[in-house]
Amino acid sequence: MIEKYQKPAELYDGLRLHQNENTGGCSPKVLAALAALTAEQVGYYPPYDAATRACAKYLGVDPDRLSLVNGLDEAITAIAVSCLRPRPGADAPEAIIPEPAFEIFAFDTEVVGGRPVRIEPNADYSFPLQRVLEAITPNTRVVFITSPNNPTGVTTSADAIRTVASSVPPGAIVFVDEAYAEFSGVSFIPELEKHRNVVVGRTFSKAFGLAGLRIGAITGHPDTLEPLRLVVPVYSVNVAAVVAVQAALEDLAFVEDYKAQVERSKAMLYAACDRLGLQYTKSAGNFVLINVSGVGDPAELVEALASRNILVRDRSKDPGCGGCIRITAGLVRHTEIVIEALEGLCAVP
Ligand code: PMP
Repeated sequence: MIEKYQKPAELYDGLRLHQNENTGGCSPKVLAALAALTAEQVGYYPPYDAATRACAKYLGVDPDRLSLVNGLDEAITAIAVSCLRPRPGADAPEAIIPEPAFEIFAFDTEVVGGRPVRIEPNADYSFPLQRVLEAITPNTRVVFITSPNNPTGVTTSADAIRTVASSVPPGAIVFVDEAYAEFSGVSFIPELEKHRNVVVGRTFSKAFGLAGLRIGAITGHPDTLEPLRLVVPVYSVNVAAVVAVQAALEDLAFVEDYKAQVERSKAMLYAACDRLGLQYTKSAGNFVLINVSGVGDPAELVEALASRNILVRDRSKDPGCGGCIRITAGLVRHTEIVIEALEGLCAVP
């Protein structure tokens, strides 16, 4: 029996610092574009071309090297369906997952009958290259790498990705999940020409604030993308998302402003942790992993914050994350609220 994926509770009244969304929402230009949708546009199947070209231009790749997806979640499902289904008489296909990792990697692997091979983290959450290399077998079909990683915020070097890409068996792919790359400013995309077996995934759910519309993109060599394209439904990205992403890409200043807020928010969270004596991991994403075990039980702290209408995520059950909670770093005014609450709850009496 595969354990059902536990979606975070649907709480929309509080301050949402638990799903790494843009805490201020999307650009006003996106709302204007959505408001300008016509009855015909809504009535017709969505055109992908212009949005594909806009995304490709933004990422600096040829449009034939990019596919739009209904959020990166869909890309991960497509990878699982395409690469990780068992073949009669053959060993179960394996997906290497350096932990702690986005839960969907292991979940989708198991759903299609593949075998997740979980790699224990290093104490500082740096990429466990040696153990990943040792875990590669002839059955390895996928290696999932997230950079910056969720929930740690730690990046993986291009060198490590190159080494993994040149060590996997023929036909296997290395999926580099760059959901948070706008915040780190680092991407493996410029290397893709040299590494045919690497696919990079990007999303508009985070820095661009489009999580509710569900749009992302995968990019890589067309031959590598082809099997994934076969399993993505033909019109999985809807017209609202198609229109929104083009408007969002015309307002990159919005993303720059938000990134500046995230940087300030992270610095404020680090300073608050220093004052409270809490350990934290410096993050290249829009969230911070904080070890609260010095002041109490993480689940209780998450509950106490929720009772103040502030939602953060208990990550203490993730491998190597005992005692940890994860707080999204968004608009400074939102960060001020969670810091004030944390100081009230964690202060030594
Ligand atoms: N990958 C990672 C590492 C994530 O953290 C998330 C969102 N939490 C996703 C993928 C899914 O993103 P999307 O909203 O594009 O489906």
